Amino acid sequence: MPIPPVPLTPGAKAMRGERDAWLAQLDFDRAPFTIAWEVTRACAYACFHCRADAQHRRDPRELTLDEGRALIDDLAGFGTRPILVLTGGDPLMRPDLFDLAAHADAAGLRVSLTPTATALVTRERMATARASGIRRVAFSLDAPTADVHDRFRGFSGSFARTMTGMRAAAAEGLALQVNTTVYADNAASLPDMVPLLQEWGVVQWSVFFLVPTGRGTQLPMLDAAGHERVLRWLHDLTGITGFDIKATAAPHYRRIALQQAAQAAAGDRLDGLMGAGFQYADGLDRPMKGVNDGRGFMFISHTGDVTPSGFLPLVAGNVRERSAVEIYRDAPLFRQLRDPALLTGKCGRCGFKEVCGGSRARAFGVHGDYLAEDPSCAYVPA
Ligand code: SF4
Repeated sequence: MPIPPVPLTPGAKAMRGERDAWLAQLDFDRAPFTIAWEVTRACAYACFHCRADAQHRRDPRELTLDEGRALIDDLAGFGTRPILVLTGGDPLMRPDLFDLAAHADAAGLRVSLTPTATALVTRERMATARASGIRRVAFSLDAPTADVHDRFRGFSGSFARTMTGMRAAAAEGLALQVNTTVYADNAASLPDMVPLLQEWGVVQWSVFFLVPTGRGTQLPMLDAAGHERVLRWLHDLTGITGFDIKATAAPHYRRIALQQAAQAAAGDRLDGLMGAGFQYADGLDRPMKGVNDGRGFMFISHTGDVTPSGFLPLVAGNVRERSAVEIYRDAPLFRQLRDPALLTGKCGRCGFKEVCGGSRARAFGVHGDYLAEDPSCAYVPA
């Protein structure tokens, strides 16, 4: 069965055909689907896997409020209303966060927020978030129990704070997303998370497969067989959980989806599975095509450096010097990442490279070569 869409509001239902058409025609050579902006690197936590190697204090070199507004105006120039994820560090460490969110919403971007679960996530701030145009709030949860999650986050009480934060966000009418980082030691606990996510009414579970970068180099990745096992299990869950499942930094999820669809001889599933094409009442839909580092996705650091993702730390330019739109469209790094013909190793030989292409960030983290094969994939091309 295809993934059932989350029930849409009456107004959104009328838009459905238009949204389908819009999602299908997006050109990732021209515009990303999602932009993550690390508005600050400051964070109270010291999570084991942190990509950002976050610090407790704000960096004086952060983009200022005026620079942030100019950046948002520039991003609106993509003309496709990309999703803007305000991330960190902990974005709530920026007192002007909601000014930036309101500016982005007014500019037509679809805004979501990934706060750290601290005492800053209050009902009042979540109300302000909603009023500023933020549509969804994503919380990190890496285990179904407090002891394991708190150890991973390096902060006792983090699990309880996450629950409090989710309740505050839900009470203010914000859609909820949970992000889970998967690595060798916590993969076995994933099934126990499903009933919790259902109980909390999350709209999306974003399962992030560890990339060895930042502090994440200290954790053990799943091996290729482990990736395959977890991705197959996630795919089997699709459509029966009531929430959408997104595999992040694991584009071979699309290969698995296509293989399983082919096995089931259900050709009508293929379009949706190429990139899910999921639609939400909050408007933060998923595209029909697969998103990958630099192809449908871009990351902007707290100092304005533009990289293909937060986990591929190669700088293609800086927004203080050049338009982010130009960097995305024209920087050689981004153009290479959008050309599957340049891939090497088994990804280069693979029949799925157009829809998958492997995690370019993991290829870089493991091989030091962003065009090399993704070592987390068990598939052996003919
Ligand atoms: S070999 Fe590479 S392109 Fe092919 S499915 Fe695996 S990760 Fe994707």
